[in-house]
Amino acid sequence: MAKTIQGESAVWEMVIGLEVHAQITSQAKLFSGASTAFGAEPNSQVSFVDAGMPGMLPVLNEYCVEQAVKTGLGINSAINNVSVFSRKNYFYPDLPTGYQITQFEHPIVGEGAIEIDLPDGQVKTIGITRLHLEQDAGKSIHDMHPTKSYIDLNRAGCALMEIVSEPDIRGAEEAVAYLSKLRMILRYLETCDGNMDEGSMRADVNLSLRKVGETKFGTRCEIKNVNSLKAVQQAIEYEALRQLEILENGGTIDQETRLWDPVKMETRSMRSKEEAHDYRYFPCPDLLPLEIEQAWVDGIKATLPELPDEKKARFVKDFGLSEYDAGVLTADTTNASFFEEVVATAGDGKGAANWVINELFGRLKKDDRDIADSPISPARLGQIVALIKKGDISGKIGKDVFEIAYTQDRDPEEIVETEGMKQVTDTGAIETAVDEVIAANPDQVEKAKQNPKLAGWFVGQVMKATGGKANPKAVNEIVAAKLGL
Ligand code: ADP
Ligand code: MG
Repeated sequence: MAKTIQGESAVWEMVIGLEVHAQITSQAKLFSGASTAFGAEPNSQVSFVDAGMPGMLPVLNEYCVEQAVKTGLGINSAINNVSVFSRKNYFYPDLPTGYQITQFEHPIVGEGAIEIDLPDGQVKTIGITRLHLEQDAGKSIHDMHPTKSYIDLNRAGCALMEIVSEPDIRGAEEAVAYLSKLRMILRYLETCDGNMDEGSMRADVNLSLRKVGETKFGTRCEIKNVNSLKAVQQAIEYEALRQLEILENGGTIDQETRLWDPVKMETRSMRSKEEAHDYRYFPCPDLLPLEIEQAWVDGIKATLPELPDEKKARFVKDFGLSEYDAGVLTADTTNASFFEEVVATAGDGKGAANWVINELFGRLKKDDRDIADSPISPARLGQIVALIKKGDISGKIGKDVFEIAYTQDRDPEEIVETEGMKQVTDTGAIETAVDEVIAANPDQVEKAKQNPKLAGWFVGQVMKATGGKANPKAVNEIVAAKLGL
Protein backbone atom coordinates (compact mmCIF):
# COMPACT_ATOMS: atom_id res chain seq x y z
CA MET A 1 0.00 0.00 0.00
CA ALA A 2 1.24 3.44 -0.81
CA LYS A 3 1.44 6.58 1.31
CA THR A 4 -2.10 7.55 0.45
CA ILE A 5 -5.44 5.82 0.32
CA GLN A 6 -8.23 6.68 -2.04
CA GLY A 7 -11.52 7.25 -0.27
CA GLU A 8 -14.86 8.06 -1.83
CA SER A 9 -14.73 11.76 -1.04
CA ALA A 10 -10.98 12.40 -0.99
CA VAL A 11 -7.45 11.01 -1.09
CA TRP A 12 -6.08 10.56 2.43
CA GLU A 13 -2.49 10.63 3.56
CA MET A 14 -1.17 8.38 6.33
CA VAL A 15 0.84 10.16 9.03
CA ILE A 16 2.89 7.85 11.21
CA GLY A 17 5.28 8.26 14.14
CA LEU A 18 6.97 5.31 15.81
CA GLU A 19 8.05 4.79 19.39
CA VAL A 20 10.59 1.97 19.49
CA HIS A 21 11.61 0.17 22.66
CA ALA A 22 15.06 -1.31 22.25
CA GLN A 23 16.57 -3.43 25.01
CA ILE A 24 20.15 -2.44 25.68
CA THR A 25 22.73 -5.16 25.24
CA SER A 26 24.28 -5.32 28.70
CA GLN A 27 25.02 -8.06 31.24
CA ALA A 28 23.27 -6.34 34.13
CA LYS A 29 20.05 -4.36 34.52
CA LEU A 30 19.74 -0.56 34.46
CA PHE A 31 19.68 -0.11 38.24
CA SER A 32 20.73 -3.51 39.62
CA GLY A 33 23.37 -6.18 39.15
CA ALA A 34 20.87 -8.92 38.20
CA SER A 35 21.52 -10.75 34.92
CA THR A 36 19.63 -9.94 31.73
CA ALA A 37 20.24 -13.27 29.94
CA PHE A 38 17.27 -14.34 27.81
CA GLY A 39 15.41 -17.57 28.48
CA ALA A 40 16.38 -18.22 32.11
CA GLU A 41 14.08 -19.91 34.68
CA PRO A 42 11.29 -17.49 35.67
CA ASN A 43 12.17 -15.21 38.58
CA SER A 44 15.77 -16.44 38.76
CA GLN A 45 17.25 -13.07 37.79
CA VAL A 46 15.62 -10.69 40.23
CA SER A 47 17.45 -8.51 42.73
CA PHE A 48 15.79 -6.81 45.71
CA VAL A 49 15.79 -3.57 43.73
CA ASP A 50 13.93 -5.21 40.82
CA ALA A 51 11.44 -6.77 43.23
CA GLY A 52 10.69 -3.36 44.76
CA MET A 53 11.68 -4.33 48.30
CA PRO A 54 11.29 -1.41 50.71
CA GLY A 55 14.41 0.63 51.25
CA MET A 56 16.32 -0.76 48.25
CA LEU A 57 18.14 1.88 46.25
CA PRO A 58 18.76 1.91 42.50
CA VAL A 59 22.37 2.29 41.35
CA LEU A 60 22.78 3.49 37.77
CA ASN A 61 24.63 1.12 35.42
CA GLU A 62 27.25 3.29 33.69
CA TYR A 63 27.60 0.84 30.81
CA CYS A 64 23.91 1.29 29.91
CA VAL A 65 24.35 5.06 29.86
CA GLU A 66 27.30 4.61 27.53
CA GLN A 67 25.21 2.44 25.21
CA ALA A 68 22.47 5.07 25.10
CA VAL A 69 24.97 7.80 24.26
CA LYS A 70 26.52 5.61 21.59
CA THR A 71 23.09 5.02 20.08
CA GLY A 72 22.27 8.71 20.22
CA LEU A 73 25.46 9.49 18.31
CA GLY A 74 24.69 6.72 15.82
CA ILE A 75 21.30 8.26 15.01
CA ASN A 76 22.87 11.70 14.57
CA SER A 77 21.19 13.09 17.65
CA ALA A 78 22.09 15.71 20.21
CA ILE A 79 23.44 14.33 23.50
CA ASN A 80 22.16 16.15 26.58
CA ASN A 81 24.84 16.61 29.20
CA VAL A 82 22.19 16.76 31.89
CA SER A 83 19.23 14.40 32.02
CA VAL A 84 16.80 13.48 34.77
CA PHE A 85 15.22 10.19 35.82
CA SER A 86 11.54 10.39 36.75
CA ARG A 87 9.01 8.06 38.27
CA LYS A 88 6.07 7.14 36.08
CA ASN A 89 3.48 5.91 38.54
CA TYR A 90 0.97 3.20 37.80
CA PHE A 91 -0.19 -0.07 39.29
CA TYR A 92 0.31 -3.34 37.50
CA PRO A 93 1.10 -6.76 38.98
CA ASP A 94 4.32 -7.06 36.97
CA LEU A 95 5.56 -3.71 38.29
CA PRO A 96 6.33 -4.36 41.97
CA THR A 97 7.62 -0.84 42.72
CA GLY A 98 4.36 0.76 41.55
CA TYR A 99 6.36 3.05 39.29
CA GLN A 100 8.69 2.78 36.32
CA ILE A 101 11.90 4.79 36.39
CA THR A 102 12.11 6.59 33.07
CA GLN A 103 13.11 9.95 31.65
CA PHE A 104 10.37 12.46 30.95
CA GLU A 105 11.13 16.15 30.48
CA HIS A 106 14.88 15.75 30.27
CA PRO A 107 15.91 12.76 28.15
CA ILE A 108 19.56 11.81 27.65
CA VAL A 109 19.29 12.21 23.87
CA GLY A 110 17.49 14.97 21.98
CA GLU A 111 16.69 15.63 18.35
CA GLY A 112 18.33 13.91 15.42
CA ALA A 113 17.59 12.13 12.16
CA ILE A 114 18.17 8.96 10.22
CA GLU A 115 18.04 8.30 6.51
CA ILE A 116 15.86 5.47 5.31
CA ASP A 117 16.24 3.57 2.05
CA LEU A 118 13.00 2.99 0.20
CA PRO A 119 12.42 0.02 -2.13
CA ASP A 120 12.43 2.30 -5.20
CA GLY A 121 15.96 3.47 -4.33
CA GLN A 122 14.89 6.82 -2.87
CA VAL A 123 16.39 8.06 0.38
CA LYS A 124 14.21 9.92 2.90
CA THR A 125 15.14 11.62 6.16
CA ILE A 126 13.04 10.80 9.23
CA GLY A 127 13.38 13.06 12.25
CA ILE A 128 14.15 11.63 15.67
CA THR A 129 12.42 13.44 18.52
CA ARG A 130 14.31 11.90 21.42
CA LEU A 131 15.84 8.82 22.97
CA HIS A 132 15.41 8.20 26.66
CA LEU A 133 16.51 5.55 29.13
CA GLU A 134 14.00 3.58 31.16
CA GLN A 135 13.56 0.27 32.91
CA ASP A 136 11.42 -2.53 31.56
CA ALA A 137 8.54 -4.09 33.53
CA GLY A 138 8.15 -7.78 34.33
CA LYS A 139 5.97 -10.15 32.35
CA SER A 140 2.45 -11.32 33.18
CA ILE A 141 1.67 -14.75 31.79
CA HIS A 142 -2.03 -15.36 31.35
CA ASP A 143 -2.06 -18.58 29.37
CA MET A 144 -0.38 -21.05 31.72
CA HIS A 145 -3.32 -21.63 34.04
CA PRO A 146 -7.09 -21.41 33.49
CA THR A 147 -7.78 -19.15 36.46
CA LYS A 148 -4.41 -17.72 37.51
CA SER A 149 -1.91 -15.30 36.04
CA TYR A 150 1.78 -15.83 36.62
CA ILE A 151 4.39 -13.14 37.03
CA ASP A 152 7.98 -13.41 35.82
CA LEU A 153 10.19 -10.57 37.01
CA ASN A 154 13.34 -11.53 35.08
CA ARG A 155 12.72 -8.71 32.64
CA ALA A 156 11.85 -6.20 35.37
CA GLY A 157 14.55 -3.56 35.50
CA CYS A 158 16.24 -4.42 32.20
CA ALA A 159 17.50 -1.29 30.44
CA LEU A 160 15.48 0.02 27.53
CA MET A 161 16.04 2.86 25.13
CA GLU A 162 12.81 4.40 23.92
CA ILE A 163 13.46 5.99 20.55
CA VAL A 164 10.70 8.32 19.38
CA SER A 165 10.37 9.44 15.76
CA GLU A 166 8.77 12.58 14.41
CA PRO A 167 5.49 12.00 12.54
CA ASP A 168 7.46 12.03 9.27
CA ILE A 169 6.60 8.51 8.15
CA ARG A 170 4.06 8.01 5.35
CA GLY A 171 2.67 4.54 4.81
CA ALA A 172 3.62 1.00 5.80
CA GLU A 173 6.56 0.73 3.43
CA GLU A 174 8.31 3.74 5.01
CA ALA A 175 7.55 2.45 8.51
CA VAL A 176 9.16 -0.89 7.68
CA ALA A 177 12.13 0.86 6.04
CA TYR A 178 12.54 3.04 9.14
CA LEU A 179 12.48 0.09 11.53
CA SER A 180 14.87 -1.91 9.34
CA LYS A 181 17.32 0.96 9.20
CA LEU A 182 17.08 1.66 12.90
CA ARG A 183 17.62 -2.02 13.67
CA MET A 184 20.60 -2.10 11.32
CA ILE A 185 22.18 0.86 13.10
CA LEU A 186 21.58 -0.69 16.55
CA ARG A 187 23.18 -3.92 15.37
CA TYR A 188 26.18 -2.15 13.87
CA LEU A 189 26.61 -0.29 17.17
CA GLU A 190 25.99 -3.50 19.15
CA THR A 191 23.83 -1.54 21.58
CA CYS A 192 20.74 -3.74 21.01
CA ASP A 193 20.50 -7.11 19.28
CA GLY A 194 17.33 -6.04 17.46
CA ASN A 195 15.69 -9.45 17.85
CA MET A 196 12.03 -8.58 17.55
CA ASP A 197 10.87 -12.16 18.13
CA GLU A 198 12.60 -12.22 21.52
CA GLY A 199 11.02 -8.87 22.33
CA SER A 200 14.30 -6.99 22.49
CA MET A 201 12.95 -4.52 19.97
CA ARG A 202 9.26 -3.60 19.76
CA ALA A 203 7.35 -0.71 18.27
CA ASP A 204 4.32 1.40 19.15
CA VAL A 205 2.74 2.68 15.97
CA ASN A 206 0.98 6.08 16.02
CA LEU A 207 -1.18 6.65 12.98
CA SER A 208 -3.57 9.32 11.76
CA LEU A 209 -5.05 10.28 8.42
CA ARG A 210 -5.45 13.67 6.82
CA LYS A 211 -6.70 14.78 3.45
CA VAL A 212 -3.91 15.29 0.94
CA GLY A 213 -3.03 19.00 0.94
CA GLU A 214 -4.15 19.49 4.55
CA THR A 215 -1.33 20.81 6.76
CA LYS A 216 -2.83 20.00 10.15
CA PHE A 217 -2.49 16.50 11.51
CA GLY A 218 -5.54 14.42 12.26
CA THR A 219 -6.28 12.65 15.54
CA ARG A 220 -4.07 9.60 16.01
CA CYS A 221 -4.41 6.17 17.49
CA GLU A 222 -1.49 4.38 19.06
CA ILE A 223 -1.07 0.66 18.45
CA LYS A 224 1.00 -0.82 21.25
CA ASN A 225 3.82 -3.37 21.16
CA VAL A 226 3.84 -4.54 17.61
CA ASN A 227 6.66 -7.03 17.48
CA SER A 228 7.62 -7.88 13.92
CA LEU A 229 8.11 -5.97 10.69
CA LYS A 230 5.32 -7.98 9.11
CA ALA A 231 2.97 -7.12 11.98
CA VAL A 232 3.86 -3.41 11.69
CA GLN A 233 2.97 -3.49 8.03
CA GLN A 234 -0.29 -5.37 8.58
CA ALA A 235 -1.32 -3.25 11.57
CA ILE A 236 -0.79 -0.04 9.58
CA GLU A 237 -2.74 -1.33 6.60
CA TYR A 238 -5.62 -2.43 8.79
CA GLU A 239 -5.69 0.68 10.97
CA ALA A 240 -5.53 3.07 8.01
CA LEU A 241 -8.58 1.44 6.44
CA ARG A 242 -10.42 1.44 9.75
CA GLN A 243 -9.84 5.17 10.19
CA LEU A 244 -10.68 5.81 6.53
CA GLU A 245 -14.07 4.24 6.91
CA ILE A 246 -14.90 6.33 9.98
CA LEU A 247 -13.71 9.59 8.38
CA GLU A 248 -15.41 8.93 5.05
CA ASN A 249 -18.67 8.37 6.92
CA GLY A 250 -18.35 11.76 8.57
CA GLY A 251 -17.21 10.39 11.91
CA THR A 252 -14.28 11.45 14.07
CA ILE A 253 -11.36 9.41 15.37
CA ASP A 254 -11.19 8.93 19.13
CA GLN A 255 -7.63 9.22 20.36
CA GLU A 256 -7.06 5.84 21.88
CA THR A 257 -4.59 3.09 22.57
CA ARG A 258 -5.16 -0.03 20.52
CA LEU A 259 -3.54 -3.42 20.25
CA TRP A 260 -2.74 -5.53 17.21
CA ASP A 261 -4.21 -9.02 17.17
CA PRO A 262 -2.03 -11.03 14.78
CA VAL A 263 -4.49 -13.94 14.74
CA LYS A 264 -7.65 -11.98 13.93
CA MET A 265 -5.53 -9.52 11.88
CA GLU A 266 -7.18 -6.47 13.39
CA THR A 267 -6.49 -3.67 15.85
CA ARG A 268 -8.68 -3.47 18.95
CA SER A 269 -9.28 -0.72 21.45
CA MET A 270 -7.41 -1.08 24.78
CA ARG A 271 -8.28 2.25 26.33
CA SER A 272 -9.60 5.62 25.25
CA LYS A 273 -8.11 9.01 26.05
CA GLU A 274 -10.57 9.39 28.97
CA GLU A 275 -9.25 6.20 30.46
CA ALA A 276 -5.63 7.26 29.90
CA HIS A 277 -3.43 6.99 32.95
CA ASP A 278 -2.34 10.04 34.83
CA TYR A 279 1.19 8.90 35.58
CA ARG A 280 2.02 11.75 37.97
CA TYR A 281 5.60 11.95 36.80
CA PHE A 282 8.07 13.45 39.24
CA PRO A 283 11.88 13.35 39.45
CA CYS A 284 13.01 10.14 41.13
CA PRO A 285 14.21 11.15 44.62
CA ASP A 286 16.56 8.13 44.72
CA LEU A 287 18.61 9.30 41.74
CA LEU A 288 20.51 12.52 41.21
CA PRO A 289 20.26 14.28 37.85
CA LEU A 290 22.62 12.53 35.45
CA GLU A 291 25.50 14.76 34.39
CA ILE A 292 27.85 13.53 31.73
CA GLU A 293 31.02 15.28 30.66
CA GLN A 294 31.53 16.28 27.06
CA ALA A 295 34.99 14.65 27.07
CA TRP A 296 33.36 11.32 27.94
CA VAL A 297 30.84 11.75 25.10
CA ASP A 298 33.67 12.67 22.71
CA GLY A 299 35.55 9.56 23.82
CA ILE A 300 32.54 7.40 22.90
CA LYS A 301 32.21 9.23 19.60
CA ALA A 302 35.81 8.39 18.77
CA THR A 303 35.13 4.67 19.17
CA LEU A 304 31.98 4.53 16.99
CA PRO A 305 32.23 1.84 14.32
CA GLU A 306 31.68 2.59 10.65
CA LEU A 307 27.87 2.83 10.28
CA PRO A 308 25.68 1.41 7.48
CA ASP A 309 25.45 4.63 5.42
CA GLU A 310 29.20 5.22 5.56
CA LYS A 311 30.01 1.63 4.75
CA LYS A 312 27.62 1.66 1.81
CA ALA A 313 29.12 4.89 0.45
CA ARG A 314 32.63 3.44 0.80
CA PHE A 315 31.65 0.24 -1.04
CA VAL A 316 30.21 2.33 -3.90
CA LYS A 317 33.26 4.57 -4.06
CA ASP A 318 36.11 2.13 -3.44
CA PHE A 319 34.78 -0.98 -5.16
CA GLY A 320 32.66 0.61 -7.90
CA LEU A 321 29.51 -1.18 -6.72
CA SER A 322 25.97 -0.13 -7.59
CA GLU A 323 23.92 1.43 -4.79
CA TYR A 324 21.77 -1.68 -4.79
CA ASP A 325 24.65 -4.16 -4.45
CA ALA A 326 26.31 -2.01 -1.80
CA GLY A 327 23.00 -1.93 0.08
CA VAL A 328 22.66 -5.71 0.01
CA LEU A 329 26.23 -6.24 1.18
CA THR A 330 26.04 -3.74 4.02
CA ALA A 331 22.64 -4.93 5.33
CA ASP A 332 24.55 -6.53 8.16
CA THR A 333 28.13 -6.56 9.29
CA THR A 334 28.61 -10.31 8.73
CA ASN A 335 27.83 -9.96 5.01
CA ALA A 336 29.96 -6.85 4.76
CA SER A 337 33.02 -8.42 6.41
CA PHE A 338 32.69 -11.58 4.34
CA PHE A 339 32.57 -9.49 1.17
CA GLU A 340 35.60 -7.44 2.19
CA GLU A 341 37.59 -10.64 2.74
CA VAL A 342 36.56 -11.89 -0.70
CA VAL A 343 37.74 -8.62 -2.25
CA ALA A 344 41.06 -8.86 -0.42
CA THR A 345 41.86 -12.10 -2.29
CA ALA A 346 39.97 -11.34 -5.51
CA GLY A 347 41.38 -7.87 -6.13
CA ASP A 348 38.15 -7.13 -8.00
CA GLY A 349 35.29 -5.45 -6.14
CA LYS A 350 32.61 -5.79 -8.78
CA GLY A 351 33.47 -9.41 -9.48
CA ALA A 352 33.50 -10.19 -5.77
CA ALA A 353 30.10 -8.51 -5.25
CA ASN A 354 28.63 -10.42 -8.15
CA TRP A 355 29.88 -13.76 -6.85
CA VAL A 356 28.84 -13.12 -3.25
CA ILE A 357 25.35 -11.85 -4.12
CA ASN A 358 24.42 -14.05 -7.06
CA GLU A 359 26.30 -17.30 -6.52
CA LEU A 360 27.03 -17.57 -2.83
CA PHE A 361 23.80 -16.06 -1.43
CA GLY A 362 21.76 -18.08 -3.90
CA ARG A 363 23.56 -21.31 -3.00
CA LEU A 364 23.29 -20.67 0.75
CA LYS A 365 19.59 -19.93 0.40
CA LYS A 366 19.07 -23.19 -1.45
CA ASP A 367 20.69 -25.03 1.47
CA ASP A 368 18.95 -22.86 4.06
CA ARG A 369 22.33 -21.92 5.46
CA ASP A 370 23.67 -18.76 7.04
CA ILE A 371 26.69 -16.87 5.72
CA ALA A 372 28.33 -17.41 9.12
CA ASP A 373 28.62 -21.13 8.32
CA SER A 374 29.28 -20.88 4.61
CA PRO A 375 31.03 -24.06 3.42
CA ILE A 376 33.25 -21.94 1.16
CA SER A 377 35.56 -19.46 2.86
CA PRO A 378 35.83 -15.84 1.66
CA ALA A 379 39.47 -16.47 0.66
CA ARG A 380 38.47 -19.41 -1.54
CA LEU A 381 35.63 -17.50 -3.17
CA GLY A 382 38.11 -14.68 -3.73
CA GLN A 383 40.46 -17.17 -5.44
CA ILE A 384 37.74 -18.09 -7.95
CA VAL A 385 37.11 -14.44 -8.77
CA ALA A 386 40.87 -13.89 -9.15
CA LEU A 387 41.25 -16.93 -11.45
CA ILE A 388 38.51 -15.52 -13.70
CA LYS A 389 40.04 -12.08 -13.66
CA LYS A 390 43.46 -13.47 -14.63
CA GLY A 391 41.84 -15.35 -17.51
CA ASP A 392 42.83 -18.75 -16.07
CA ILE A 393 39.20 -19.88 -16.17
CA SER A 394 36.05 -18.54 -17.78
CA GLY A 395 33.06 -17.39 -15.73
CA LYS A 396 31.22 -20.51 -16.78
CA ILE A 397 33.98 -22.84 -15.57
CA GLY A 398 34.11 -20.65 -12.45
CA LYS A 399 30.63 -21.88 -11.57
CA ASP A 400 31.78 -25.49 -11.80
CA VAL A 401 34.81 -24.72 -9.63
CA PHE A 402 32.53 -22.98 -7.15
CA GLU A 403 30.25 -25.99 -6.90
CA ILE A 404 33.18 -28.35 -6.26
CA ALA A 405 34.80 -26.02 -3.74
CA TYR A 406 31.45 -25.54 -1.98
CA THR A 407 30.43 -29.18 -1.77
CA GLN A 408 33.85 -30.86 -1.41
CA ASP A 409 35.67 -28.34 0.77
CA ARG A 410 38.50 -27.99 -1.75
CA ASP A 411 40.85 -25.24 -2.77
CA PRO A 412 39.87 -23.58 -6.11
CA GLU A 413 43.45 -23.35 -7.43
CA GLU A 414 43.98 -27.01 -6.66
CA ILE A 415 40.64 -27.91 -8.33
CA VAL A 416 41.53 -26.08 -11.53
CA GLU A 417 44.95 -27.76 -11.56
CA THR A 418 43.82 -31.30 -10.68
CA GLU A 419 40.71 -31.33 -12.85
CA GLY A 420 42.51 -29.76 -15.81
CA MET A 421 40.06 -26.89 -15.97
CA LYS A 422 42.53 -24.20 -16.91
CA GLN A 423 41.41 -22.09 -19.82
CA VAL A 424 43.26 -22.72 -23.07
CA THR A 425 44.92 -19.46 -24.09
CA ASP A 426 47.54 -21.25 -26.13
CA THR A 427 46.62 -19.95 -29.62
CA GLY A 428 48.26 -22.93 -31.29
CA ALA A 429 45.83 -25.33 -29.60
CA ILE A 430 42.88 -23.09 -30.40
CA GLU A 431 43.96 -22.77 -34.04
CA THR A 432 44.06 -26.56 -34.35
CA ALA A 433 40.54 -26.82 -32.93
CA VAL A 434 39.26 -24.10 -35.30
CA ASP A 435 40.92 -25.78 -38.29
CA GLU A 436 39.22 -29.05 -37.41
CA VAL A 437 35.77 -27.47 -37.20
CA ILE A 438 36.29 -25.60 -40.49
CA ALA A 439 37.52 -28.74 -42.27
CA ALA A 440 34.51 -30.74 -41.06
CA ASN A 441 31.90 -28.15 -42.14
CA PRO A 442 32.61 -26.81 -45.64
CA ASP A 443 28.93 -25.85 -46.21
CA GLN A 444 28.84 -23.73 -43.09
CA VAL A 445 32.07 -22.03 -44.16
CA GLU A 446 30.46 -20.94 -47.43
CA LYS A 447 27.39 -19.62 -45.63
CA ALA A 448 29.46 -17.75 -43.08
CA LYS A 449 31.40 -16.01 -45.79
CA GLN A 450 28.06 -14.65 -47.12
CA ASN A 451 26.73 -13.91 -43.66
CA PRO A 452 29.44 -13.08 -41.06
CA LYS A 453 26.91 -13.43 -38.23
CA LEU A 454 27.24 -17.18 -38.62
CA ALA A 455 30.80 -17.00 -37.24
CA GLY A 456 29.19 -17.40 -33.83
CA TRP A 457 28.25 -20.94 -34.73
CA PHE A 458 31.97 -21.79 -35.25
CA VAL A 459 32.87 -20.20 -31.93
CA GLY A 460 30.23 -22.37 -30.25
CA GLN A 461 31.58 -25.53 -31.91
CA VAL A 462 35.15 -24.75 -30.85
CA MET A 463 34.07 -24.05 -27.25
CA LYS A 464 32.24 -27.36 -27.25
CA ALA A 465 35.24 -29.20 -28.65
CA THR A 466 37.50 -27.75 -25.97
CA GLY A 467 35.13 -28.49 -23.10
CA GLY A 468 34.45 -24.78 -22.57
CA LYS A 469 38.08 -24.18 -21.68
CA ALA A 470 39.19 -22.15 -24.68
CA ASN A 471 39.55 -18.42 -24.11
CA PRO A 472 36.42 -17.03 -25.86
CA LYS A 473 38.16 -13.83 -26.99
CA ALA A 474 40.98 -15.77 -28.66
CA VAL A 475 38.49 -18.15 -30.30
CA ASN A 476 36.49 -15.24 -31.73
CA GLU A 477 39.60 -13.65 -33.20
CA ILE A 478 40.96 -16.84 -34.71
CA VAL A 479 37.61 -17.88 -36.20
CA ALA A 480 37.20 -14.46 -37.83
CA ALA A 481 40.74 -14.57 -39.22
CA LYS A 482 40.45 -18.10 -40.60
CA LEU A 483 37.12 -17.41 -42.27
CA GLY A 484 38.59 -14.23 -43.71
CA LEU A 485 35.84 -12.07 -42.19
P1 ADP B 1 2.74 10.24 23.75
O1 ADP B 1 3.96 10.41 24.60
O2 ADP B 1 1.48 10.61 24.39
O3 ADP B 1 2.66 8.87 23.14
P2 ADP B 1 3.96 12.01 21.76
O4 ADP B 1 3.58 13.38 21.45
O5 ADP B 1 5.27 11.82 22.44
O6 ADP B 1 2.82 11.29 22.55
O7 ADP B 1 3.99 11.23 20.38
C1 ADP B 1 4.26 9.91 20.32
C2 ADP B 1 4.43 9.52 18.87
O8 ADP B 1 3.29 9.86 18.10
C3 ADP B 1 5.60 10.17 18.16
O9 ADP B 1 6.30 9.19 17.44
C4 ADP B 1 4.95 11.17 17.21
O10 ADP B 1 5.71 11.32 16.04
C5 ADP B 1 3.64 10.52 16.90
N1 ADP B 1 2.56 11.44 16.57
C6 ADP B 1 2.23 12.58 17.20
N2 ADP B 1 1.14 13.14 16.64
C7 ADP B 1 0.76 12.32 15.62
C8 ADP B 1 -0.31 12.34 14.66
N3 ADP B 1 -1.23 13.30 14.65
N4 ADP B 1 -0.39 11.31 13.79
C9 ADP B 1 0.51 10.33 13.80
N5 ADP B 1 1.52 10.25 14.67
C10 ADP B 1 1.66 11.23 15.57
MG1 MG C 1 3.29 6.94 23.38
